[in-house]
Amino acid sequence: MDGSSNHISDPNKAHIILIPFMAQGHMIPMVDVAHLLASSGAVVTFITTPVNAARIRPIIDRIENSHLPVRFIQIPFPSADAGLPAGCENVDLISSPDLFKPFIEALSLFGEQVKHYLTTTNPTDVPADCIIFDSMNYWVGAVAESLDIPHIIFYGPSCFYILSTHLLKKHQVLKSIDDDYELFKVPELPEPVEVMKAQVMRWMDRPGWEKVSEEYYKTEKSACGVVMNTFEELEMSGLDKFRKEIGKKVWPIGPLSLANKDMDSKAMRGKASSIDTRLLLSWLDSKAPNSVMFVSFGSLSRNPISQLVQIGQGLESASSSQSSFLWVVKEADKSEEVENWLSEFEERTKGRGMVIRGWAPQAMILGHVAVGGFMTHCGWNSTLEAIAAGVVMATWPRFGDQFMNERLVVDVLRIGVAVGAKVPIFFVDKMSEEAMVKGEEVRKVVEKVMAGGEEGEERRKRARELGEKARKALEKGGSSFENLKRIIQFAEGENKHLERGLIKPLSLFL
Ligand code: UDP
Repeated sequence: MDGSSNHISDPNKAHIILIPFMAQGHMIPMVDVAHLLASSGAVVTFITTPVNAARIRPIIDRIENSHLPVRFIQIPFPSADAGLPAGCENVDLISSPDLFKPFIEALSLFGEQVKHYLTTTNPTDVPADCIIFDSMNYWVGAVAESLDIPHIIFYGPSCFYILSTHLLKKHQVLKSIDDDYELFKVPELPEPVEVMKAQVMRWMDRPGWEKVSEEYYKTEKSACGVVMNTFEELEMSGLDKFRKEIGKKVWPIGPLSLANKDMDSKAMRGKASSIDTRLLLSWLDSKAPNSVMFVSFGSLSRNPISQLVQIGQGLESASSSQSSFLWVVKEADKSEEVENWLSEFEERTKGRGMVIRGWAPQAMILGHVAVGGFMTHCGWNSTLEAIAAGVVMATWPRFGDQFMNERLVVDVLRIGVAVGAKVPIFFVDKMSEEAMVKGEEVRKVVEKVMAGGEEGEERRKRARELGEKARKALEKGGSSFENLKRIIQFAEGENKHLERGLIKPLSLFL
């Protein structure tokens, strides 16, 4: 795309810079934000790194061919300066626990480079009206303030989780609890649920992270608004409460996955699919409606072979009259041993089950009528994608926001059944014996989620109704659709007052 073309440099349009965090669960929704804002009348600049840009190349090509005013800018990630292996530019490329901290610290160096880029002027530049940044980019506050660019925070997780973290901090709850596995209620949460300290303690609030956490909270404070991947009708009371707590404008604009309307754009979200999508679709087409349990644990959570075997046993022993399964075994879980075991497993479950090795076109799969259940780690994107598709869930949280998302799905929305995982496991750590889930538990939950009966039917009905509301939220006149317009109006309002930071086009375009 020619960066100087009118639709990209139109000075009458709000110009919004997007800065995602480098993890699949953060990049994917931000690409959708770019698409939606550009379709709603803004000019968008999307800042990323070379490795991440290469992954989403098909989406970039597609957006460019559609002539939407989005330009993608690559800024090198300082992997070497931070002591990371070359090319380690995404959280899913962190191969050992001791590289997580250097990766997070490298973000601050990356911020310096972004600042340099934003301050290097060019006569054909378009002024930036505001920055929408992923909350994990803790460095943005200082950079945006020094350039006098308004910055809006984008939270990847549910409002339910973000509100909980604010309430736990406000009441200093975790400091007063000694037992990591004692159940307690999150104070002031409109829909009260019980959780354990071990399940909600954030890594950035642990000793050793003081500098990052100080910057994170400062940036959160200085942001002039909040964008969230949720929708009013899903989290109404939580959003009302959160608006009061944070005292800023809060714009829910999800479910972002619904920005992808046709099969191709659903199939290419995040990364190229590891399976031929026509083959996959014909397998799904051959199954009865609501008969397939889709099993996938997002982009980060790993399963050692012992856990994979238990999952396999559970899927194989679940009543075959009720369900088929489609199981994603990710690249990071693969080994020769796993492959040997899997090929025998596939032989035994031929016809009834399919295993995808690597990256699955999840949004496409969840939207297929054959899919009747989703065993998920409760990452918020996956959870919301299931909600948008009206699919019930078997919940198996691992870390971060996932335990709170499980409570929302199981206790509040009542569209899921818990597998029963209690002990958190951070994605880079070795899975402990206590964190493992036995095949028998997997079998029980698959049968329960896929079952008919009054309870199962009621669960499905609730899920279908939420799916309907989700779709309406992004249709013309819907709550998320209107919020997108409000964000653009806000940016245009800022535009009237000041000539802000300039961005450099042409030479750095992908
Ligand atoms: N995803 C996908 N294919 C895969 C694995 C993940 O398309 O094989 C997508 C999924 O649809 C979601 C994102 O990757 O949009 C994962 O985000 P989530 O918040 O669910 O979990 P995380 O990976 O951050 O733990």
